[in-house]
Amino acid sequence: MTETIIGMGSNLDHPEEQVITACRELSRIPETILVQMSSLYSSVPVGPQDQPNFVNSVALLRTELNPEQLLDALQDIENRHRRVRLRHWGPRTLDLDILFFGSAVIDTERLQIPHPEFRNRVFTVIPLLEILPDFRIPPENTPLQDIVGSLPSRDLEALHILRKNS
Ligand code: AMP
Repeated sequence: MTETIIGMGSNLDHPEEQVITACRELSRIPETILVQMSSLYSSVPVGPQDQPNFVNSVALLRTELNPEQLLDALQDIENRHRRVRLRHWGPRTLDLDILFFGSAVIDTERLQIPHPEFRNRVFTVIPLLEILPDFRIPPENTPLQDIVGSLPSRDLEALHILRKNS
């Protein structure tokens, strides 16, 4: 089984419920186990600022699927949430990204893993740090803790926990 990290985000149509429901759906993907979910965080939008704040979380899964099969399953879930995407980096009901898939490095038309924006985003780095404080970023094996200092301080200050995962 491969350990994979999924990033979740929503800023439309009851975002907390969108993310909690999405997590339940992750646990129902075939040949896949939901191991852990982070707290729910509130973050300021990347890109256009004239939209609601996002609710974000990350989940650790173990799966027998390959990355393309997993992406298919995530896109099915997004579609079930009637995902609305009006513009690039605009508001959406649900966004699911594969942040990491074991130590795989993938760069195809459909998939880039590790997710290219992972390191720049407080709403992926901080929730992952919460559930896996000793995580090392593949393929270089950089400790996750080492990149916290290079995150934008404005975004860090704006990030806060909405609902603690206990
Ligand atoms: P977005 O607007 O960020 O949700 O981008 C959706 C597209 O990103 C999909 O059509 C995927 O094929 C592509 N994509 C590339 N890399 C990834 C990844 N690591 N996780 C999820 N989608 C990805």
